[in-house]
Amino acid sequence: MSRRRKHWGWGYEDEQLPAAQLEALAAAMRDQLRFGGEVEAPAPLPALAAPRLAAPARLRELLDTSDHDRARHAYGCSYRDLVRGFRGDYGNPPDVVAHPRDERELEAVLEWALGAGAAVIPYGGGTGVVGGVEPIVGDGYEGVVTIDMQALDQVLEVDETALAARIQAGASGPVLERALRERGLTLRHFPQSFELQTLGGAIATRAGGHYATARTRIDDFVESVRALTPAGVWASRRLPGSGAGVAPDSLLLGSEGTLGVITEAWVRVVRRPAQIASTTVSFPSFEAGCEAARAIVQSGLTPANCRLLEADEARLTGAGDGTAALLLLAFESAELDVGGSIGQAVALCLACGGTPREPRRRTPAAGGDDRKVAAGENLDPAASWREAFVRAPYLRDALVAIGVLAETFETAITWERLAGLRASVAEAARQALREVCGGGTVTCRLTHVYPDGAAPYFTVLAPARRGAELEQWDAVKRAASAAVLDGGGTITHHHAVGRDHRPWYDRERPEPFAAALAAAKAAVDPAWALNPGVLIDRPPRRSRDSS
Ligand SMILES: Cc1cc2nc3c(=O)[nH]c(=O)nc-3n(C[C@H](O)[C@H](O)[C@H](O)COP(=O)(O)OP(=O)(O)OC[C@H]3O[C@@H](n4cnc5c(N)ncnc54)[C@H](O)[C@@H]3O)c2cc1C
Repeated sequence: MSRRRKHWGWGYEDEQLPAAQLEALAAAMRDQLRFGGEVEAPAPLPALAAPRLAAPARLRELLDTSDHDRARHAYGCSYRDLVRGFRGDYGNPPDVVAHPRDERELEAVLEWALGAGAAVIPYGGGTGVVGGVEPIVGDGYEGVVTIDMQALDQVLEVDETALAARIQAGASGPVLERALRERGLTLRHFPQSFELQTLGGAIATRAGGHYATARTRIDDFVESVRALTPAGVWASRRLPGSGAGVAPDSLLLGSEGTLGVITEAWVRVVRRPAQIASTTVSFPSFEAGCEAARAIVQSGLTPANCRLLEADEARLTGAGDGTAALLLLAFESAELDVGGSIGQAVALCLACGGTPREPRRRTPAAGGDDRKVAAGENLDPAASWREAFVRAPYLRDALVAIGVLAETFETAITWERLAGLRASVAEAARQALREVCGGGTVTCRLTHVYPDGAAPYFTVLAPARRGAELEQWDAVKRAASAAVLDGGGTITHHHAVGRDHRPWYDRERPEPFAAALAAAKAAVDPAWALNPGVLIDRPPRRSRDSS
């Protein structure tokens, strides 16, 4: 029998933390953070309201209206989603969940859903953290059909000359990496949600992998994309580069299910790394670590890992003792010698006041646990950081159960404004935490570094007031997001816009671009059926006699 995903939160039903471990975690959190309460049990799945759409007999095999499946597709994985799932709050699930197994079946489902006047939400792994799959679609629809793409999960072709692979949109990280590994290749796209994230979801959200520099965003990997839209197939050519006008792929990248259902893509793959060199460097301050990271990327070096942790974050993850900021540094290559690169990077760190540990060189393990590879098994010398990275998705569910408000938010900013933005965002979040939670911690790390700037990533942990978690979180999120925009940053570096980031995304984007996006959507989706409410609102309908 196949495993069933939990109806709420992360992972599978057979992966629950045993009660004893939850109790131990609660005790450890109280010890370390001085907050968190008794362990609360998740509410059972309630009976859901009857679906508003009837599945036609010819598609019945592909359509699921069971309470479990509808509940599982009602939310993604943000803190708000976890809390609502935990409490059994399923007041607004999709009416029908479709599970097409190929493009022909997807086409049939789309045709039926559009004909039935439904809104349609493409669904990958459901790991999104911004309300992108939640069926809040507004008025004017007969119901909501969520299309789960996970049955389209094959690696269809591998071009070993051009080093590219044609992969179906529903393939998760482990599934596609296993198929590529047989050929000595890797997509080398390792987000923390690697285990459940799908390729289509990554493209639709412009996801970021955990490599700190160079090729790490899914944008860099995409050679061509194929999608079904209500107006027909949208497929681009495989090209290594093209200057032919606005790139069709650039519109699908980040389209978040609003322009079409991505069915497959050709993506650039690489040979698996054969050598790794890594170390950690301590810095007396986060600012000194930033100077070093900037010097490294601006020198032309492209470390696979160049992740800078605040001292407190290093302590919380067990990677440091809380007295120094910590830079995790690693280089990897399939062919080139990495010894020189790490030597040069360490020299730049020394010039910025860093204290490096002796670099380690190694050959990566041939096989291995995908999750650990995804977490940088080969990259991070700080084993406890790596363990924390792997455990995090599971831990988030447990934190809800023990009354800890936990969430992350992230942005990107050019170097000269980084210090100001980091300080103002952290202060805004702390102030909101003081007001609505009575305290809590805010820590920061740089997840990605570019020659012209960096992506700061904030982690918030605070005492939750049971039953009031959503209001608490909304207050913190509002304060932090406003500070991000005021500080000149983007509302998201890699977590997408969804429904949750709309107010700030609308502030960020140019108005003529918003109009162009609306026009593009109207052209491929005239009924405005695909994921309404995400990225852009349906323009008000003109009444017949207005001229
Ligand atoms: C613990 C945790 C860690 C995370 N770490 C990272 C990280 O390191 N990097 C990162 O970038 N993100 C991360 N995320 C966020 C999330 O994993 C990404 O946004 C991811 O790309 C979503 O992919 P998915 O397949 O789960 O898509 P879903 O969550 O199912 O959908 C996300 C959006 O994409 C659309 N969509 C999905 N599939 C398709 C398709 N085939 N065609 C058209 N539209 C589609 C949906 O309609 C929705 O708008 C993390 C999330 C969690 C919970």
